[in-house]
Amino acid sequence: MNQLIPGGGGSGSSEVAETVRCACCSAPEECTAAYIRRVRAAHCGSWVCGLCAEAVGERLRREQDAGVEAALRSHTAVCRDFNATTRLNPKLSLAGSMRDIARRSFNRRASSATTMTCHDELRTSKTMERTVICQPRFFA
Ligand SMILES: [Zn+2]
Repeated sequence: MNQLIPGGGGSGSSEVAETVRCACCSAPEECTAAYIRRVRAAHCGSWVCGLCAEAVGERLRREQDAGVEAALRSHTAVCRDFNATTRLNPKLSLAGSMRDIARRSFNRRASSATTMTCHDELRTSKTMERTVICQPRFFA
Protein backbone atom coordinates (compact mmCIF):
# COMPACT_ATOMS: atom_id res chain seq x y z
CA MET A 1 0.00 0.00 0.00
CA ASN A 2 2.40 2.63 -1.20
CA GLN A 3 0.31 5.69 -1.91
CA LEU A 4 1.75 8.82 -3.50
CA ILE A 5 -0.08 11.17 -1.16
CA PRO A 6 2.16 13.71 0.59
CA GLY A 7 1.91 14.29 4.31
CA GLY A 8 2.70 10.76 5.38
CA GLY A 9 5.99 10.91 7.19
CA GLY A 10 7.97 13.34 5.07
CA SER A 11 10.60 10.67 4.54
CA GLY A 12 9.99 10.67 0.79
CA SER A 13 10.80 14.35 0.26
CA SER A 14 13.74 13.50 -2.02
CA GLU A 15 11.38 11.49 -4.23
CA VAL A 16 9.29 14.52 -5.17
CA ALA A 17 9.93 15.52 -8.76
CA GLU A 18 11.00 19.08 -9.48
CA THR A 19 11.11 20.74 -12.86
CA VAL A 20 14.59 21.95 -13.73
CA ARG A 21 15.88 23.60 -16.84
CA CYS A 22 19.05 22.51 -18.58
CA ALA A 23 21.84 25.07 -18.27
CA CYS A 24 22.89 24.32 -21.85
CA CYS A 25 19.81 23.82 -24.01
CA SER A 26 17.22 25.03 -21.42
CA ALA A 27 15.07 21.97 -21.95
CA PRO A 28 12.84 21.36 -18.91
CA GLU A 29 13.03 18.00 -17.20
CA GLU A 30 11.34 16.56 -14.13
CA CYS A 31 13.77 15.04 -11.70
CA THR A 32 13.98 14.21 -8.02
CA ALA A 33 15.89 16.60 -5.77
CA ALA A 34 18.49 13.93 -5.07
CA TYR A 35 19.13 13.43 -8.78
CA ILE A 36 19.32 17.17 -9.39
CA ARG A 37 21.88 17.51 -6.60
CA ARG A 38 23.96 14.70 -8.07
CA VAL A 39 23.94 16.18 -11.58
CA ARG A 40 24.76 19.65 -10.23
CA ALA A 41 27.69 18.28 -8.24
CA ALA A 42 29.06 16.62 -11.36
CA HIS A 43 28.71 19.76 -13.51
CA CYS A 44 30.10 22.63 -11.42
CA GLY A 45 26.71 23.50 -9.94
CA SER A 46 24.89 23.64 -13.29
CA TRP A 47 22.04 21.28 -14.01
CA VAL A 48 22.20 19.71 -17.45
CA CYS A 49 19.74 17.38 -19.13
CA GLY A 50 20.63 13.81 -20.04
CA LEU A 51 21.45 14.66 -23.67
CA CYS A 52 23.76 17.54 -22.73
CA ALA A 53 25.40 15.53 -19.95
CA GLU A 54 26.19 12.92 -22.58
CA ALA A 55 27.63 15.54 -24.92
CA VAL A 56 29.69 17.16 -22.16
CA GLY A 57 30.95 13.76 -21.04
CA GLU A 58 31.90 12.94 -24.62
CA ARG A 59 33.78 16.24 -24.92
CA LEU A 60 35.60 15.54 -21.67
CA ARG A 61 36.67 12.15 -22.90
CA ARG A 62 38.10 13.72 -26.05
CA GLU A 63 39.69 16.77 -24.40
CA GLN A 64 40.76 15.58 -21.00
CA ASP A 65 42.70 18.77 -20.19
CA ALA A 66 39.66 20.95 -20.82
CA GLY A 67 37.88 20.27 -17.53
CA VAL A 68 34.17 20.09 -16.78
CA GLU A 69 33.66 23.85 -16.75
CA ALA A 70 35.26 24.40 -20.16
CA ALA A 71 33.40 21.43 -21.64
CA LEU A 72 30.13 22.79 -20.26
CA ARG A 73 30.85 26.27 -21.62
CA SER A 74 31.66 25.08 -25.13
CA HIS A 75 28.65 22.78 -25.18
CA THR A 76 26.41 25.65 -24.03
CA ALA A 77 27.76 27.69 -26.96
CA VAL A 78 26.86 24.86 -29.34
CA CYS A 79 23.34 24.72 -27.87
CA ARG A 80 22.87 28.51 -28.13
CA ASP A 81 24.01 28.39 -31.74
CA PHE A 82 21.61 25.59 -32.43
CA ASN A 83 18.72 27.39 -30.74
CA ALA A 84 19.51 30.61 -32.58
CA THR A 85 19.49 28.96 -35.99
CA THR A 86 16.52 26.67 -35.39
CA ARG A 87 14.13 28.78 -33.37
CA LEU A 88 11.30 26.28 -33.69
CA ASN A 89 10.95 23.32 -31.40
CA PRO A 90 14.61 22.43 -30.72
CA LYS A 91 13.72 18.85 -29.91
CA LEU A 92 11.77 18.51 -33.13
CA SER A 93 14.50 20.00 -35.31
CA LEU A 94 17.13 17.98 -33.52
CA ALA A 95 15.14 14.85 -34.27
CA GLY A 96 14.70 16.14 -37.82
CA SER A 97 18.42 16.64 -38.37
CA MET A 98 19.10 13.21 -36.95
CA ARG A 99 16.52 11.79 -39.31
CA ASP A 100 18.24 13.67 -42.15
CA ILE A 101 21.57 12.09 -41.31
CA ALA A 102 19.95 8.68 -41.12
CA ARG A 103 18.16 9.25 -44.43
CA ARG A 104 21.34 10.46 -46.11
CA SER A 105 23.34 7.42 -45.07
CA PHE A 106 20.42 5.21 -46.00
CA ASN A 107 20.16 6.86 -49.44
CA ARG A 108 23.86 6.39 -50.00
CA ARG A 109 23.52 2.72 -49.19
CA ALA A 110 20.31 2.39 -51.19
CA SER A 111 21.71 4.14 -54.29
CA SER A 112 24.85 2.00 -54.34
CA ALA A 113 22.63 -1.04 -53.92
CA THR A 114 20.39 -0.02 -56.81
CA THR A 115 23.36 0.63 -59.11
CA MET A 116 24.64 -2.79 -58.24
CA THR A 117 21.33 -4.49 -58.90
CA CYS A 118 20.89 -2.50 -62.14
CA HIS A 119 24.28 -3.67 -63.35
CA ASP A 120 23.52 -7.17 -62.24
CA GLU A 121 20.22 -7.10 -64.06
CA LEU A 122 21.91 -5.79 -67.21
CA ARG A 123 24.56 -8.45 -67.01
CA THR A 124 22.03 -11.17 -66.37
CA SER A 125 19.87 -10.09 -69.27
CA LYS A 126 22.85 -9.89 -71.65
CA THR A 127 25.17 -12.70 -70.67
CA MET A 128 24.69 -15.14 -67.87
CA GLU A 129 28.37 -16.04 -67.93
CA ARG A 130 29.57 -12.57 -67.00
CA THR A 131 27.43 -12.51 -63.87
CA VAL A 132 28.99 -15.74 -62.78
CA ILE A 133 32.49 -14.35 -63.37
CA CYS A 134 31.71 -11.09 -61.58
CA GLN A 135 30.11 -12.61 -58.54
CA PRO A 136 33.27 -13.79 -56.75
CA ARG A 137 34.60 -10.22 -56.87
CA PHE A 138 31.57 -9.00 -54.95
CA PHE A 139 32.09 -11.58 -52.26
CA ALA A 140 35.85 -10.99 -51.98
ZN1 LIG B 1 20.40 20.12 -22.33
